Amino acid sequence: MTNTPVTDHRFPDAVHMTEVGPRDGLQAQSCQVSTADKIALIEALIDAGVRDFEATAFVSPRAVPQLADAAEVIAGIDPARRTRATLGALVPNLRGAERATAAGVDAMIVFVSASNSHNLKNLNCSRADSLTAFQAVAEHARSSNTPLHGAIATAFGCPFEGDVPVANVVDIARRYRELGIRRIALGDTTGMATPALVRERCDALHAAVPDIDLALHFHNTRGIGLVNVYAGLAAGVRRYESSLGGVGGCPFAAGATGNICTEDLVYLLHECGIHTGLDLDGLCSAARRLQEMLGERLPGQVMKAGPRLRLSTMDSVATACG
Ligand code: ZN
Repeated sequence: MTNTPVTDHRFPDAVHMTEVGPRDGLQAQSCQVSTADKIALIEALIDAGVRDFEATAFVSPRAVPQLADAAEVIAGIDPARRTRATLGALVPNLRGAERATAAGVDAMIVFVSASNSHNLKNLNCSRADSLTAFQAVAEHARSSNTPLHGAIATAFGCPFEGDVPVANVVDIARRYRELGIRRIALGDTTGMATPALVRERCDALHAAVPDIDLALHFHNTRGIGLVNVYAGLAAGVRRYESSLGGVGGCPFAAGATGNICTEDLVYLLHECGIHTGLDLDGLCSAARRLQEMLGERLPGQVMKAGPRLRLSTMDSVATACG
């Protein structure tokens, strides 16, 4: 398939994908997922070509019991597979960063919300205090030779404040850059992004901090997650975060879906002629396994329907429908 954009925009030939299901997806699950299942999930994803993970988070086990086994998960991945993938972990502060490097993570991610109220609710401190505290994390990352990335939560809207000024997002990106962080993800934490906001924020960041490696992290809370990816591609963004099967949820909207679904996104990208390095069939079988593991129907669609050219036989379908 050639890269033939259906819009006037020139899309990238290839994109980088980060799998966040083991962290963002599982964190929202009400049932406790076993350490062995988490390890099996990450290994199945590595087998399907995933090379970059947000594998877990070194946060307070009391606040997030689902991820209390962060160190065991990192230690449990088969060493041969481990060499093929980068296992990153979220760290809220220096203490988390020290636990993460002791566990041998390959990268760390700090995060702050673009809206102050969300930061207070999520991290129990102001945005300014979070950014100040990251100084120590950045020093620890340097001394331990561990790559450090930055995420900006509620970058497209806040469930408490509504619209978030683009200036907040740019300001945080500049502060990250001063800390030596180049890879910065805009998180649509509660699914409030729209294509217009995506374009506005990507253009503003590319203009204000041109040397960053920008990533987009969408949630499908309102059903337009993949449309927002399309807007990101048109804005020249080459890095996307997603979760297998679309696993996850939203604490602010009961019953809402979680991150955009990895295999649905890969299907879209491949059909646009954009290379991902991931194997769609492998992802779909891993997603079906995850569905069994969790004992619930996941929102991913390609895992159920298959790719568009997986054809049915005429007599396998009883009645034609609309
Ligand atoms: Zn998220």
